[in-house]
Amino acid sequence: MKLVLASKNQKKIAELQAILGELLPDVQVLSLADVGITEDIVEDGETFRENALIKAKAAAAAGYIGVGDDSGLCVNALGGAPGIYSARYAGEHGDDAANTARLLDNMKGKVDRRAAFHCVIACVFPGSDEPIVTEGSVRGLITQAPCGNGGFGYDPVFYYPPFNCTLAEVDAKRKNEISHRGMALRAFAEALAARLKNE
Ligand code: IMP
Repeated sequence: MKLVLASKNQKKIAELQAILGELLPDVQVLSLADVGITEDIVEDGETFRENALIKAKAAAAAGYIGVGDDSGLCVNALGGAPGIYSARYAGEHGDDAANTARLLDNMKGKVDRRAAFHCVIACVFPGSDEPIVTEGSVRGLITQAPCGNGGFGYDPVFYYPPFNCTLAEVDAKRKNEISHRGMALRAFAEALAARLKNE
């Protein structure tokens, strides 16, 4: 069985393949490029869920089971920002250092440092209007300054109290065990396995 993940990020494709492989060894995860879709998907949803569904539908349009994901950081003292705009908070898409710098700037003087990472995975089956949608989140605190070199995005400024350090100070395996993505992906693998069993 073939599944298309609406992402150009090879790391995400490998990650989904690895997590699904444990439960569903016959599932092969492909990228949009693998099935000939090259145009950019316009992510104009207003929630993580809407954006994940937009991406999943674009992938399902090729006739495969389509999977989309969306994730980001929501900070209490900033009214939930950067939220769905996490990747482009400082303007340029994917500039982690600039995004983190803007976040720390906007958090100057804020006493309430609470924040959470959220992730939604959506899966759309061609010809079906019953998608699978799973979610995960992890709560932490925004630090005063970046700490650690691991991970990506806002990890160096996301302090996770149970680990007593930021998510950039632990290895990928440890982060995956508690992360919003790990949680959403594992729930998705289980939901997909159950759905395929019942079909
Ligand atoms: P996307 O889901 O790939 O669009 O990512 C959205 C953005 O949210 C990323 O560019 C990061 O800035 C941020 N983000 C999502 N997950 C994480 C994470 O696990 N660590 C740090 N930043 C994250």
